[in-house]
Amino acid sequence: MVSRDDKHVYQPGFLYVLFDKMRPDELIRDQRSLLAPSIIFHHDTVVGIDPKAGEVHTEKGKKTKV
Ligand SMILES: Cc1cc2nc3c(=O)[nH]c(=O)nc-3n(C[C@H](O)[C@H](O)[C@H](O)COP(=O)(O)OP(=O)(O)OC[C@H]3O[C@@H](n4cnc5c(N)ncnc54)[C@H](O)[C@@H]3O)c2cc1C
Repeated sequence: MVSRDDKHVYQPGFLYVLFDKMRPDELIRDQRSLLAPSIIFHHDTVVGIDPKAGEVHTEKGKKTKV
């Protein structure tokens, strides 16, 4: 998994914040803590997708075959 954010925001919780039932910080968790251990997490930004080559290109210069 590639994401430019290492935090996950639980968007449906926004409604609870609106009605003062949750605080914003309760909706934010580390992405890694939500993933199965077998999933490799790359904190990086996707800058291009090459469908012909089957590659995803990222800001840190990584090229991953998909
Ligand atoms: C008030 C509210 C209530 C909701 N209720 C429900 C509900 O009841 N049921 C339901 O199914 N859905 C609900 N939703 C919608 C649900 O929260 C969203 O559909 C869901 O979060 C979208 O998930 P996503 O992974 O597609 O996108 P996101 O959660 O937006 O994640 C996209 C990720 O991609 C990353 N990213 C973007 N561009 C790049 C890039 N170039 N390189 C690397 N990373 C990138 C972003 O940083 C982000 O982390 C609700 C939303 C709101 C606001």
